[in-house]
This record gives sequence, structure tokens and C-alpha cells, in this order.
Amino acid sequence: MKWAAALVAGVALGACPAKAVDPVASVHVVRDGERWTADYRFHRQAPVWVLAVSPLTRVKPRSFRPESWVVETPGVRLERHGWYDVLVADKGAMPSRVRVSFRPFTEDIETAADPALGFTDGSVALYSVQWKVLPARSIEQVKAYPLDVAFVPESGAPTSVTLSDKNRPVLFDGKRVRAAKLTGDRETYVLFGPATPVETPALETILDPQLPGWFKNYALAQLPPILDRYTKLLGPKPDGKPTLMVSWNGPTKGRASFSGSVLPGQMVMTLEGEGVVSDNPKLRDMARWFVAHEGAHFWLGQQVIYSDVKETWITEGGADLLGYRTVAALDPKFDVRAAQQKSLDDCIASSRKGPVATAIERQDPKAYYNCGAVFGLVAEKAWGGDFAAFVRELIARNRADRTVSRTEWLDLLDSRAPGKRLPQHIGFLLDNPVLNAQPWVALLEAGGIRFRLRTDGTPELL
Ligand SMILES: [Zn+2]
Repeated sequence: MKWAAALVAGVALGACPAKAVDPVASVHVVRDGERWTADYRFHRQAPVWVLAVSPLTRVKPRSFRPESWVVETPGVRLERHGWYDVLVADKGAMPSRVRVSFRPFTEDIETAADPALGFTDGSVALYSVQWKVLPARSIEQVKAYPLDVAFVPESGAPTSVTLSDKNRPVLFDGKRVRAAKLTGDRETYVLFGPATPVETPALETILDPQLPGWFKNYALAQLPPILDRYTKLLGPKPDGKPTLMVSWNGPTKGRASFSGSVLPGQMVMTLEGEGVVSDNPKLRDMARWFVAHEGAHFWLGQQVIYSDVKETWITEGGADLLGYRTVAALDPKFDVRAAQQKSLDDCIASSRKGPVATAIERQDPKAYYNCGAVFGLVAEKAWGGDFAAFVRELIARNRADRTVSRTEWLDLLDSRAPGKRLPQHIGFLLDNPVLNAQPWVALLEAGGIRFRLRTDGTPELL
């Protein structure tokens, strides 16, 4: 049986909105029973409108729109050019209003949040940014656009999105409202239909009613305590309680799949396949780790973020270590030492290929997770074994600009371990490839982390 798993963090559209920019278009998305429509109003004249979020499906890679969208306005077509779907007129200028009807598309998208989550009671959650459009001068121009929409001209110009249901209020930010109005390309899922959240002190959970019972019980019993623990250790989230939505695509033959993605304040999971109908320990562990790592980002990643992508080790390594400690605190059977040893071994292997800071240039993002978790161990030790206290301090000191730079992280570490030259050790590893494990051994020694040397000279944590 094929085990498919995909984890995606939300596309960073307008991650740091500097100031409000006028929308280039607005769209009103309406559900009326089985019929779904999206009415566009373009606020500029342009011959081509580019759908800014045009990812491919994971299975049989293809755009999701040709099979789920119908352009109802005569003389307007949906086409694919380069990396993007576009709306274009048969001839001449595009009309300023265009109507599309659509079927919510619930298949897995590998590189972005899924356009829709389907629940078996008829509820549907829609991903708000799928309607974002950008004006273009020509098809030729679109063909030359890069895959990363952040580098497309004017990609920061937002589309205002309003979502409503003719038959009942929609669920938006934990509240039922007549219409969800989203500006500034805000990314979220808005829920249509009767599904009701289960409230716990630190997490709001929306589970498909048909989910296999064992998973429902597991999710409600084991996942909220993870967020409870973060809230206790790191303080309440200033933007309110996060939501976890779990949808169920049915017991498809020969499949066992889990996919998840994360948006600000929201985690979504989709389960599918006969392989998850009865208790499945692997799925339990995946779901738990997903919430432990991604939930940590609601603090380390949203309340503060790194200043440069080369500092991803601050957030990814930090979320891994917070996750390890949290899972270990909630489950005495979790082998936390083995998890940390794997981080250390994989980190040392990555570090032989090049400096940790530039791992992204070598397509080795895991180096940030693994080596960042090792740097985290050093900070944890300096904080008397309390990594959450270090993170709490990191957030408190950097609340004003919500940014933690490498220097700020290292200075904070140094303040609790003066004279140990920990910033120098870590700085060396960030900036240099290492031929053997020696500089890592030196860091563990300086940091007071207990280990023994294996015969090949690599450290084994004690
Ligand atoms: Zn992460």
C-alpha cells in the first residue's frame, strides 16, 4: 500500500504587508446550495488577468482549474501559460466583470494549500487566496513569469475577496458571519455549511463527522493538549485560538494518505484511504508531529520571524526542539533522545556539504531543521534545561519588530553563557562547511551537552 504524505506551509503571499495597497480586483464568492460562483470586478483595464496561485496537483500533476472552473461570461476563456492559469478575452479588451462557476476542488496540491476541503456533511472550507489575480500586458509576458509569484511584477497588489453562503452564515475566524471579507490577500480557510467546532481551551477543532472513529477520538484527546502546553509555556496567542480542520476523502482502495498545511492561526489535514480506516500508529504519529511542529510556529514563526531566509534554522530548528520536548512531555514512550540524535547525525551530514546558513542554495532545507535543533539544545542548556523559556525571552525581546536576526539570537544565548564563546562556535558552523564532526563536537563541549565519541569521531548524545 502506498503511504502518501505531504506537508505544506502556506504560500508566503504578502508575508510582510508594508502598507495597504489598493486592490486591483475584487471577487465575491457565493454558495447557493450546490452552485458555487465567483464574480470578479477588475479595477483596471488589462487584456490578461493572471491567477496568482496556480499550483499543480500532486497526483497526475495538472492545474486544478480546467476541470473545476467554468467561465460563464461569454468571450472570456481560461488558459494555461507558463506556470499560471489566466483569464483572457477571445478578442479585444477583457470585460470589467467576469463570472466563473466552480466545483470546490479537494484533491491534494503539493506546493500550496488545497483549494478546498470537503466534509461529508456537505460543509466545505475554501482557501481564500485561490482567487487572487494580477493584471498582465500580454500572454507573452505571462509565459516569461517565474514560478515564484513573489517575483512577478506587482504581485503585492491585492485582490479583495468576499465569501458568503445564501443559506447560512459562514465560519470565519471562529465566528459565524453573513460574509467573510478578506483584504490584503489574507490567507485563511472559510467554512461553508453546518460543521460545528469542538472547543478546547487552546484549540478549536473541526472534524469531519465521517472520519474513522479511532482517529476522531485520538485527535480530540491527544492534539489539543499540545497547544495547551504551548499556551502555558509561551503565553496565549495574541491573535486568538488556532483552528484545526480535518477533512475525510473516504476509504479509497489501496490508499493511506495524510496531508497537511498551515496558514496563520490555522492547521488543516486531509485523510484518505482504506489504510486509515482502522487504528494506524504511523498516522497517529504523523498527525501528532504535524501539530507539535506546526503549532510551535504560531509562536516561533508568527509572533517573531527570522530576518533572512538563511536564518530559517531559528524557526525550523526551534519548532523541532519545542515539538520534541512537547511530545516527550505528553507521551512517556516517545524516544526524545533518538529524535535528537537523528537531528544531530543528519545535521552533521548536511554540514559536510556546505555552511548551514546557505543550505537553501543547495536545496537542503532539512539542514535548517536539524542543525537548528542542535543549536537549540545549546540554548536550552544555557537556560537551565528550559528551551521554552529561551523562546519566550526571544519573543519578548523582539516583539516590537517581530523579527529575530542571527545576531539577536546569538546575543541572547551569549547573555546566559558568557565566556563560553557559543556565538563563535555556532557562527563558524553557519558560515563554513566542515570536513569532519570536530567543530560540532567543540560546540557540544562548549555548551556543556553530554555525549560520547563514536569510533568514527561523531558525537552520540547521552
Ligand atoms: Zn516548520
